[in-house]
Amino acid sequence: MYWQKEIETMDRSTLAGLQLQRLNESLRQAGRSAFYGGSLGAAASKGLSDLKEIARLPFTTKDDLRNAFPYGFLTVDLEEVIRLHSSSGTTGNPTVVFHTARDIDEWGNLIARCMYTTGVRKQDVFQNMMGYGLFTGGLGFHYGAEKLGVMTIPIGPGNSKRQIWFLKHLKATVVHILPSYALRLYSFFEEMEVDPRKDLHLRIAFIGAEPHSEEIRRKIEELYGIKVYNSYGLSEMCGPGVAFECERQAGLHLWEDHFYPEIIDPASGEVVPEGEQGELVLTTLTRQAMPLIRYRTRDLTRFLPGECPCGRTHRRIDRITGRSDDMLIINGVNIFPIQIEKTLMAIPEIGHNYLIEIHKENFMDKLSVKVEINEEVFHGTLAELEKLQGKAVTALRAELGVTPVVKLAEPSSLPVTEGKAQRVFDYRHREEGSR
Ligand code: ADP
Ligand code: ZN
Repeated sequence: MYWQKEIETMDRSTLAGLQLQRLNESLRQAGRSAFYGGSLGAAASKGLSDLKEIARLPFTTKDDLRNAFPYGFLTVDLEEVIRLHSSSGTTGNPTVVFHTARDIDEWGNLIARCMYTTGVRKQDVFQNMMGYGLFTGGLGFHYGAEKLGVMTIPIGPGNSKRQIWFLKHLKATVVHILPSYALRLYSFFEEMEVDPRKDLHLRIAFIGAEPHSEEIRRKIEELYGIKVYNSYGLSEMCGPGVAFECERQAGLHLWEDHFYPEIIDPASGEVVPEGEQGELVLTTLTRQAMPLIRYRTRDLTRFLPGECPCGRTHRRIDRITGRSDDMLIINGVNIFPIQIEKTLMAIPEIGHNYLIEIHKENFMDKLSVKVEINEEVFHGTLAELEKLQGKAVTALRAELGVTPVVKLAEPSSLPVTEGKAQRVFDYRHREEGSR
């Protein structure tokens, strides 16, 4: 059941001891980079005597990474570096992350741990539909799966018919896929006369890399007849493998032997009381080439209370509800896109894709939600469509406290992106002050 039982089930005080020892090594290592240089002071040379003292150290931000491009965070000679990855640049210029052979090895081990946790074994066939290349989703899982000894099909994303052909003929049992792509891929099955619930051997999917609601997870589970697990990570830490759901699907275990987590109030920078929502801040504990101290992920989550029945002692975080910079302010009301997704996906007649547009009209913000509907309603009567539209508006108003305009769209008609889904289009700055 456990990949590394001793570590995964380590008692909290032994784990804290291990973290402190590794944190001090990390601080010493970070001190060798041009960026941290002398700025960590005695923390780098002498170390901390208690984990809590970390709160005295400054944060590291994405801008710091960009400004120190390319080698400002590197702590080893280039000859020790064997790989570079880069963030997908969803919110600006890409940032680069370096790995030594040990970093790559530790990362593979973490991914193997994650996969094993959900029941993946050597006999499985793993089709990895995440992008290979600079993006960490492809190669990250690839090496982890190989470490576990699973036959891995490095197919990457896209080319949906070929995906389905491989799924069927190679009897893939496990996939790694973007949640938005899992929904899109589904629309190709009918044409290929393959029933994903009956004609495939699929049993597990890992989804991650973009925010998604519990409702989307359940939808994918239902459409494919499989178990779906949430995978969280970011290239700055390594990539996927930072936090992962166990077989209980009750929050994501954050692997505390490799990362030291804090949750802070994004405005004040203070650590929030245990269990409260805030921004996740991570410190790497084992990374060699590029340790990061108190890195502000901008991802919003909270620690879940209590122990997980699976026996793992590493704390669990709740699914990410978005990034602190994802929040939309509509006529003074704060809204996260995930609230819209959650509400829409709870309506059975709603289809698989949606997008959000915000315009400025008469100095007011206007929120529009375009959403695909499913085949049956699409072929239904006008009265049925109007009823569905009214239902969506009412549900969204109740959740958001703002009344959106809802536009229903034909199945598979909304634009899709090859990589992470882009669903929010905010035109307000362009229309500022327009009438
Ligand atoms: P970028 O920051 O350019 O998107 P990455 O590829 O490193 O680059 O993506 C990491 C980010 O993706 C995370 O910081 C988080 O915002 C998002 N993400 C990753 N996994 C998940 C997940 N399981 N749920 C929600 N968001 C996720
Ligand atoms: Zn668990």
